[in-house]
Amino acid sequence: MAEVILSGLSKSYGATQALQGVSMTIPDGAFVVLLGPTGAGKTTILRLIAGLDRPDSGDVRIDDHSVMQDTPAQRDVAMVFQQYSLYPHLTVRDNLAFPLRSPIIAMPQAEIAKRVAEVAEVLRIPHKLDNKATALSGGEMQRVSIGRALVRNPRIYLMDEPLSSLDAKLRADLRIELKRIHADMGATFLYVTHDQIEAMTMATHVGVLDRGKLVQFGTPRDIYENPVSTYVAARLGQPHINLLPAAAFPGAPSTATQIGLRPEHIHVGDGQDATIQRVEHLGDQTRLHLTIGHYSLITLTQPHTALKPGETLKIRPHNPLWFDASGNRI
Ligand code: ADP
Repeated sequence: MAEVILSGLSKSYGATQALQGVSMTIPDGAFVVLLGPTGAGKTTILRLIAGLDRPDSGDVRIDDHSVMQDTPAQRDVAMVFQQYSLYPHLTVRDNLAFPLRSPIIAMPQAEIAKRVAEVAEVLRIPHKLDNKATALSGGEMQRVSIGRALVRNPRIYLMDEPLSSLDAKLRADLRIELKRIHADMGATFLYVTHDQIEAMTMATHVGVLDRGKLVQFGTPRDIYENPVSTYVAARLGQPHINLLPAAAFPGAPSTATQIGLRPEHIHVGDGQDATIQRVEHLGDQTRLHLTIGHYSLITLTQPHTALKPGETLKIRPHNPLWFDASGNRI
């Protein structure tokens, strides 16, 4: 496993600047999650590290060695795409063994069989090993493509929304498996997702991208509690952070134009009047949809609350985040 250092990576496709001067250190053994909307440049970063594309400028170093002159195979990274990429005419066993049969690796047959069996166990597909890839469900195919990365012992795993095509139950199971593999093998991961829960539960570090630029890098907790901008604040948290004009509450700093309130940062009991619009019972939590004047916001309450729409509460901010006219944190 390895430390990966990106320095000043820029990449354009025609008139589109996909990346602008991205620098980031992925520590050895880290699980780094990249967040950002479609088009932010996440996949481009993975492709530049894997060697599937070349940057216009900047450098990628793996274990303190620039890999810019290395082929994808020499870089020894494993990439998992959102859409499974299997050999349809081969069995699951041969699909899993394929990366290990490369002449560069030259692994003995017995060792290949052992690794394939282990990975099939982790992904719960041992009974499918002799099936043709085409005879699998979508979820099984995606597990096999993750397995093709796991059988190797690459210097870094690059994963591009590997769980997004799976159903919720399998996604939850594989999230735990990937985290376990990360912990057990001390593997280094760079992982792209849109899923808040994947980011919060798996990441040791989160990198937030905005139109090709890295705007914040830190622990998930840091990104959640100390976002540098409204853009970053909106990337993590379910329900979303409430963003309202600063004047909605008293006490705003003079340069503040917006207040950011996490749902758990709304104190109920004193303050100003808020009207309950909707009570959303989700089992383990209940969300209250409130209005103060023209503004809407969401907070959380007891799962078995007796509160009803139309009732009035008194609320005040607790640990608010303030932002200026450009959306930057004050
Ligand atoms: P993300 O993974 O965050 O959705 P990408 O890295 O795929 O973002 O894309 C970043 C930007 O670069 C987008 O505007 C995308 O349209 C553009 N882009 C990526 N790859 C290509 C390509 N091969 N040709 C043209 N434009 C591309």
